[in-house]
Amino acid sequence: MTAGDTTNAPEAAQEQPTTTAAPGQAERLESIRPYLPREFAARLVDQLTVGSNPQSVEIVAPLTGETIVDLPQSGPGDVRHAFEKARSAQAAWAARPVGERAAVLRRLHDLLLDNTEHLLSLLQVETGKTRLHAFEEIGVAAATARHYAHSARGYLRPKHKLGVLPVITKVTEYRQPKGVVGVITPWNYPLALAAMDILPALVAGNGIVHKPDNQTALSGVYLRQLAVQAGLPAELWQVVTGDGPVTGPAVVDHADYVAFTGSTRTGRQVAQQAAGRLIGCSLELGGKNAMIVFDDADLDKTVSGAIRACYTSAGQLCISIERMYVHHAVYDQFVDRFVTEVKALKLGSQLDFSADVGSLTNTKQLETVTQQVEDARIKGAHVLAGGRRRPDIGPLFYEPTVLTDVAPGMTLYAEETFGPVVSLYRFDNEAEVVQAANDTRFGLSASIWTRDSKRAKEAALRLHSGMVNVNEAYAAAFGSVAAATGGMGDSGVGRRSGAEGIWRYTEIQTVARQTLMPIAPSFGLSPER
Ligand code: NAD
Repeated sequence: MTAGDTTNAPEAAQEQPTTTAAPGQAERLESIRPYLPREFAARLVDQLTVGSNPQSVEIVAPLTGETIVDLPQSGPGDVRHAFEKARSAQAAWAARPVGERAAVLRRLHDLLLDNTEHLLSLLQVETGKTRLHAFEEIGVAAATARHYAHSARGYLRPKHKLGVLPVITKVTEYRQPKGVVGVITPWNYPLALAAMDILPALVAGNGIVHKPDNQTALSGVYLRQLAVQAGLPAELWQVVTGDGPVTGPAVVDHADYVAFTGSTRTGRQVAQQAAGRLIGCSLELGGKNAMIVFDDADLDKTVSGAIRACYTSAGQLCISIERMYVHHAVYDQFVDRFVTEVKALKLGSQLDFSADVGSLTNTKQLETVTQQVEDARIKGAHVLAGGRRRPDIGPLFYEPTVLTDVAPGMTLYAEETFGPVVSLYRFDNEAEVVQAANDTRFGLSASIWTRDSKRAKEAALRLHSGMVNVNEAYAAAFGSVAAATGGMGDSGVGRRSGAEGIWRYTEIQTVARQTLMPIAPSFGLSPER
């Protein structure tokens, strides 16, 4: 591997978005093939639930534009078949003791760590993110496997409750699996999100039909392969492919519960369809996340936290920060330092740890980012860093971008960008900043920077946000897989991780046993009795 990267140079940032950097300034990855051999991809494709002569779509590597694979597509019959197969294996799986099911996750945790190199390359090739950001995904997936391996028994333990006649009415709540869960995942964190939604469902005794996004289907299949290697019955976890608006609804049509992660728009459709079938669903959706920098924040830590907050996975992270509010007393100092660091970030397409920021994943994202920044610029926003495409590095690269003077009426003021773009705002006092941060239909994640933990807690509890990180960008909440995470408002319904993350996949069944005497005498009583 050669170190290929380029600096997000200050002078380059002044140029127009379509300008290419000088030849030789950027080295790009020559080919993905050494990292993703065709036979390896073919073995993964073999595990998909598809018919004998499926149609296929070409999946392209964002870093180079090369074909990764011609991905066979599941038809409606394949989705039905996938549910039949998962269902046929589910009852026997559910009948196994929780400890046996948990042991599979424990072995999966080890296999994830043993196969890190393959996984890193696969994730980079499919998403275009840097190796470090791919590594974070593996960490979350492994932590999830370990957490539920250790804690599932406690979460699923039957609970004794007070009976209608205390002592003589014996009441127990049991947690039964839902059956076969449909899990629909997006392309941005294909391993971590699949693990977070699928592993607790499995250990709770469910079967799975997983529909990953076509772009990142192989990462999902590789996770399944490792789970099977860890001892999971192969039939229990089926993977179907296909165009979202076609295969997605087919999955919802057959599922006993749906765990959906994706855009708010699609989430609404999934919720309506699930409601029509009277099945439950959890929805992990979009955000417009705010970060607040108070005047007593440690600026060294805050600047480096802000870089991670805004540019991890090139901003294609649902909990990425897109709005940053900085107290006026430290605004100039903070912005100076932040912008200098942003301009020094290295963009790169290499499959090693040399780059700071990777590529966007698809053309639609590149267009959204470009259009939103142009719209803001035309309407009066100022670009302090970035603001242009970098085709010299790879077809879908866009520079880390910092904007000021963003105002209502600009698309990115309120809409999710899902790219490497942040808007800076100045604030004077706490009440004003809490109101500004809450002025959104979303409520996914927030980040607060201050040395005063009382102030942090008070502000956090006033934020309309499912996750709040204090003195951390996003990972303190999201990576703490023992705690529930998810969104308020248009950012979602339900929670993943922790107890809520597994309980959503269970039905509570109450078994009440009457002893010693009946609760009421039989009917037909005389007036005297
Ligand atoms: P998307 O909604 O277009 O697609 C997500 C998944 O749904 C894909 O697998 C897609 O094929 C499938 N799909 C598409 N139409 C469907 C339909 N009608 N019925 C069922 N499934 C359908 O989202 P996207 O653009 O791929 O992903 C980015 C979005 O996901 C962003 O808004 C981001 O914030 C959000 N996201 C949220 C979280 C979270 O945990 N809250 C995590 C990652 C991404």
